[in-house]
Amino acid sequence: MHRLSRHIAAAILIANLAAPAVAAAGQGASGPQSPIDIDRGHSCVAALPRLVATRRSPVTEVWRNTGSPDHEATVRVAADPPAGMLEVDGRSYQLRQYHLHVPAEHKIGGILAAMEIHYVFEAADGSLAVVARLVDEGPANAEFDPLLAAMPAKRDLSVTVQSADPLGHVLQPWLDQPKSYRYVGSLTTPPFTSGVAWIVLADHISFSPAQMARFKGLFPHGNVREIQPIDGRTVRTDVPNFSRPCGD
Ligand SMILES: [Zn+2]
Repeated sequence: MHRLSRHIAAAILIANLAAPAVAAAGQGASGPQSPIDIDRGHSCVAALPRLVATRRSPVTEVWRNTGSPDHEATVRVAADPPAGMLEVDGRSYQLRQYHLHVPAEHKIGGILAAMEIHYVFEAADGSLAVVARLVDEGPANAEFDPLLAAMPAKRDLSVTVQSADPLGHVLQPWLDQPKSYRYVGSLTTPPFTSGVAWIVLADHISFSPAQMARFKGLFPHGNVREIQPIDGRTVRTDVPNFSRPCGD
């Protein structure tokens, strides 16, 4: 189950892309927002709908630096056709892109991880689901290393890489039906679209300090949105004993 490719064939294209128009901060923000502090007091424990993830490989990915060191920018990775699919709650989503934040955006019980990766999925009707993977500083992630090495270092640069299994590097644990925290929030960058189904995975992965430094160097002041009000929401989790049982 762990036979992931260690290869990226080549960084074959570096292109200048036109800078996108950036919406004013806060514009379009309505409805309950993200990120949040996933606190025991506003969570409950229940069995959660099963996640079924499908990955396609190999894929050609475009890694794009959307504008470091702007704190609303990131390095965004997209593949066409999409590199993966997610089925949950009777709905199918295609992976549109994934990107990184430093430090993490969500807190778990007040604790902030070193980084957070967001996998943005979209259903045919346009509804969004984001899977968040938290990253701690620790052992190097060998599978992710060639991807981090290929990261475009300047704003508006993109790098195209061939990857045999891009999502396997970080999504492999899906196959074991990972524990998670789920709630409805928003995108954390403009236009802050609400109604987003968030799935924050409970298990973290790790990057080495050197791996983190590659991304942190692009965003020395971070690229995160501040914690948003809980607004009466309840986070449902299948992490045992994290909180009270749902329904009590
Ligand atoms: Zn994000």
